[in-house]
Amino acid sequence: MTTSAGVTEDGPTRVLVVDDVPDNVEILHARLASRGYEVVTATNGPEALEAVKVQAPHLILLDVMMPGMDGHEVTRRIKDDDSLPFIPIILVTALTETEDVVQGLESGADDHISKPYNFNELEARMRAMLRVKRLQDELDLKNRELEHANIRLKKLSVTDGLTELFNHRHVHEQLHDEWERSRRTGEPVGVAMIDLDKFKRINDTYGHPTGDVVLYETARIIKETAREIDMVGRYGGEEFIAILPNTDEQEAAAFAERVRAAVEEHLYRDGAVEIRMTTSCGVASSQASQADTPEELLKAADEALYEAKRSGRNRAVRATQVETPQPQA
Ligand code: GH3
Ligand code: MG
Ligand code: MG
Repeated sequence: MTTSAGVTEDGPTRVLVVDDVPDNVEILHARLASRGYEVVTATNGPEALEAVKVQAPHLILLDVMMPGMDGHEVTRRIKDDDSLPFIPIILVTALTETEDVVQGLESGADDHISKPYNFNELEARMRAMLRVKRLQDELDLKNRELEHANIRLKKLSVTDGLTELFNHRHVHEQLHDEWERSRRTGEPVGVAMIDLDKFKRINDTYGHPTGDVVLYETARIIKETAREIDMVGRYGGEEFIAILPNTDEQEAAAFAERVRAAVEEHLYRDGAVEIRMTTSCGVASSQASQADTPEELLKAADEALYEAKRSGRNRAVRATQVETPQPQA
C-alpha cells in the first residue's frame, strides 16, 4: 500500500517549490510527488509569484538566496496581497544563512528548515503548517459569512418588509441626520408626506392581499419619482414619506405633484382586478416652515397633508399654504 500524505479529502495538496538550483527543485519535486502532493515549481522569484497568481498553492517551500528577487521579497509580496488566501511559506535555507531565517520570518514567512534537511522533518513541518492553514481558511470563511449576515441584518433592520422601503424608525433617523446636515450647510431639507386616498375600500372590496399589491406598487412609483439621494420610507399603513435633501418647499411640492400625477396615471393590477388610485400629499421644507426641530417639520407636512384631504384629496398642499388657526380672542 502506498501512503499518500499529500492527498486530503479535498484532493491533492498543491505545493509550490521555489529554488534557483534546478537539482534542489527536482529532488523535492520527486519526493513530494511520490507522497501524493501536487507539485508546481519555479526557479526564481517572479516565476514563483506568477505561479501563485495562476493558482494559489496550499503551501510554498521557498529558497531564500536567489539571484534577482530573493525569498524575502517573494514572501513580502505574497503576504501583502490581500486577494490571496493564507498560504503558509516555509523557508528552505542553508545552515549558514541563519541571519536570513530571522529576516525571512520577519518578512512574514511562517516556518523554516535548514539544508541539508531530513525529509520526514520537512514533511512534518509541512503538515503542521497545513493544519494552521485549514484553521485559518475556516476562520476566513466564517468571517465572510458573518460579514454577509451582518449586512443582511442591517438591511432588514431598516427595511419595511412589505414595500421594501425604509421603515418608520429609519426614516426618523435619516430625517434627524439630514436636519443636522442642513444646519451645517445651510441647505434646506424638504419632506413630503404621501397618503393613498380611500385606501380602506380596496381592502374592503378586493381583500387585504390586493391592498398589499397597491401598497407595493405605490412604493415603486414614489421610489422611481425620487432622486438617488432622496430617502423614501413607509411611514405607516398607507402613508409614505420622502425626505428630500437640499430641497425647498416649491421643489418639494413639484416632487409631490409628480408622485400625485404618476399614481393617478397608474393602472394597478392584481390578477384580473384593475384599480385606479389617487394620493394626497403634504410638503414642507425646513426654511419655509420655520420649524425649529425635525418633529416640527414633520408636523407641518402632516398638517398640509390633512389640508389636502380636507379640501378634496388627489392634491399636493404646501405647508405655507395652510392657514394656521388664529387663537380665539
Ligand atoms: P383617506 O383617504 O382619508 O386616507 O382614507 P383611507 O381609507 O385611505 O384611510 P384609513 O386610515 O381610513 O384606512 C387605511 C387603511 O389601510 C386601514 C388599514 O386596514 C389599511 N392598512 C394598513 N396597513 C396595511 C397593510 O399593510 N396592508 C393592507 N392591505 N392594508 C393596510
Ligand atoms: Mg539559492
Ligand atoms: Mg389613506
